[in-house]
Amino acid sequence: MKLKEEFQKFKGFIFDCDGVIWKGETKIEGVDSVIGYLRRENKRIVFLTNNSTKTREEYAKRLKIFGIDAKINEIVTSGYVTGQYLKKKYGRNLGLYIIGESGLIEEMKNFGFTILSEKDVWHRKVNVVIVGLDRKLTYEKLAAGAYAILNGAKFVATNADPNIPTEKGLLPGAGAIVSFLEVSTGVKPEIVIGKPNVEIMNFALKILDTEPENTLVIGDRIETDVIAAKRVGCKSLIVLTGATTLEEVRKSKVKPDFILKSLSDMVL
Ligand SMILES: [Mg+2]
Repeated sequence: MKLKEEFQKFKGFIFDCDGVIWKGETKIEGVDSVIGYLRRENKRIVFLTNNSTKTREEYAKRLKIFGIDAKINEIVTSGYVTGQYLKKKYGRNLGLYIIGESGLIEEMKNFGFTILSEKDVWHRKVNVVIVGLDRKLTYEKLAAGAYAILNGAKFVATNADPNIPTEKGLLPGAGAIVSFLEVSTGVKPEIVIGKPNVEIMNFALKILDTEPENTLVIGDRIETDVIAAKRVGCKSLIVLTGATTLEEVRKSKVKPDFILKSLSDMVL
């Protein structure tokens, strides 16, 4: 196995996960051997996902099941970076109302924030409403979030991905939930932490400790992965195993530096 010549110069690799490493619950063919090869070549690797539904530990376990070893600090999720952002900006003494899944709630508990329930929202002070993908979303959850925002809580989105690639096709993502709250309150999030925002990219680059020009971002979406890479000065590779078709890449004004059918085409 050998890395194709155009990729040999890169020292750091930032891998998006949904649509690159896996699709829904299914591993994308050959990704474990490519990452194993990069490890043997002493390349630096970060797994970076806008998906906030799982903790970093849970992502490490999932990667392990797919034959990929990753340390916790090589995994960057929009949920984890949201916690870092809030801690730095406002401190730990915050009451959070979270529209998101158990992984996001768990990650925020690890930071020491107070997590408020849907029932708490109506009679307690909420400092921040955090929104991530929630596949058990209800009208009651949305109403509680909107109520808190209209009563002065800050509004922070883990990501604004419109949809997520699954085995069934594209299903609604966190961005659709963020839009619901935006429309119903007239308030925009003060920040969207995930790609294409530089917040999460700078966090990943700090972990890699590589120069942006020596770092390749591998993703399946132009509007998040490629734009995020350009904003911080990294090169980008689009793989066609996720949310984007070749035709969409061709039509797009924003171009990735490289296009491959799949991650496994990085090697010969
Ligand atoms: Mg993706």
